[in-house]
Amino acid sequence: MGSAPIGILGGTFDPVHHGHLRIAQEALEQCGLARICFVPSGTPPHRTAPCASAQARWEMVRLAIAGHPEFQVDVREVFRSDPCYTVDTLTSLRAELGLAQPLCLILGGDAFLQLHTWHDWRQLFALAHIVVLQRAGGQPLGNAMAQADAALQAEYRARLAPGALALHEAPAGRIFVADMPALDISATDIRRRCAEKKSLRSLVPDAVVHYIHTHSLYRPC
Ligand code: ATP
Repeated sequence: MGSAPIGILGGTFDPVHHGHLRIAQEALEQCGLARICFVPSGTPPHRTAPCASAQARWEMVRLAIAGHPEFQVDVREVFRSDPCYTVDTLTSLRAELGLAQPLCLILGGDAFLQLHTWHDWRQLFALAHIVVLQRAGGQPLGNAMAQADAALQAEYRARLAPGALALHEAPAGRIFVADMPALDISATDIRRRCAEKKSLRSLVPDAVVHYIHTHSLYRPC
């Protein structure tokens, strides 16, 4: 068996919250990952510009993961202002970590169902495994796949791993579905609560609450 896979969790993290930390923890444990890299996005191609600056989003992730030795933050996207694609980030990580190191791109079920719309999406399977987090109480991913894009369905059928061990046995190319408890937390809701001066406690780590208040983030314009 090869070395334990490294997980990659991309996101806007505007701001990072307990939902993100919980996904990372579940992926770490269910897949036996060595560590997780949080990769805050720069200017995402599919989304409007984040509210908080790159510096603030990066610092909030740093504060949120302090005390979690298996979590780290990677800055290769966050300070870029040009659109950066996941395939480019994985290519650059692969060049650094070597061809043998298993990598796992961690995605929510909703994101996975749209994977065929991503830039150079098939190349993602040559670079990493994909760990799809299926939310408890939601539609099981297997059922949702019946309505998915035909090319994505074919990749899913061909690549579905029977267990997490498969993620350790090859550097890339498998799809593994992990279970995730439903956590009704989103950055959108946190920004709204902030603008309405409502408490953020238990939604984001205390150090991040402090940072948001000290830097007057997410106030109404
Ligand atoms: P926004 O509300 O601004 O869209 P978000 O809370 O969804 O943001 P992102 O930074 O875009 O946060 O999320 C990064 C990843 O974390 C995405 O794959 C997203 O699906 C996932 N995610 C975010 N919140 C949760 C949650 N509560 N439970 C499970 N997955 C989540």
